[in-house]
Amino acid sequence: MYLQIENIKKYYGQGDNKVEVLRGINCGVEKSEICVMLGPSGSGKSTLLNLIGGIESIDEGDILVGDTDLGKLSRKELALYRRNTLGFIFQFYHLVPNLTVKENIESGAYLSKKPISVDELLKTLGLEEHKDKYPNQLSGGQQQRTAIGRALAKNPSLLLCDEPTGALDYKTSKDILELLEKINDKYKTTIIIVTHNDAIKNMAHRVMRLRDGQIIKNKVNTSRIKAKDLEW
Ligand code: ADP
Repeated sequence: MYLQIENIKKYYGQGDNKVEVLRGINCGVEKSEICVMLGPSGSGKSTLLNLIGGIESIDEGDILVGDTDLGKLSRKELALYRRNTLGFIFQFYHLVPNLTVKENIESGAYLSKKPISVDELLKTLGLEEHKDKYPNQLSGGQQQRTAIGRALAKNPSLLLCDEPTGALDYKTSKDILELLEKINDKYKTTIIIVTHNDAIKNMAHRVMRLRDGQIIKNKVNTSRIKAKDLEW
């Protein structure tokens, strides 16, 4: 497995207020898989994603990404892991308002050892004709495309998406999911999509379901369908 999660526990609060939000998570994702993580609000999806993303500290257990054991990294090494290995996509796009589409995407390649050409990305993302626009001149879907471009510019091995279509309408959501599918095909990027939209599971290679901080389902999807054929 490329990503291995072993008996992960995570607590918030202290003393009488201490709550166990992840209660012994064991799971894994193979290289180049699209993994969809489902579960109701509060089930621990974002917390798990933040642990994989090196944003929050692990309380118990191990997370391995390739040969990297996250629990053993110093703060500086963790920052390098995030810079070299990961791309992040969020529900809200967090673009830099005074940079153009092209400049926002370029900013994601900063300090990367193996960046993807920005012109190639603009083409893949369907943003060529918008490259000189500023975020406030773009639709939500175009802003999310730009954010995806920025996350991809450094050619990350692992793309972490937290509700990437949460703020988008049906058609635009499908466009963005098709784009993630295309990226997975083209760059073999391992992609984790956290969502509460059940329909998205059908495009995944692997589906996990969380409830109350535990994995209640983890299975390989043997009947994948194309993102463009998803319906909800
Ligand atoms: P999901 O992404 O599935 O909606 P989260 O991972 O955001 O779930 O949250 C899991 C649980 O952890 C929730 O009960 C939430 O209230 C709690 N939680 C998340 N972040 C914090 C925090 N920083 N401090 C305290 N509790 C938190």
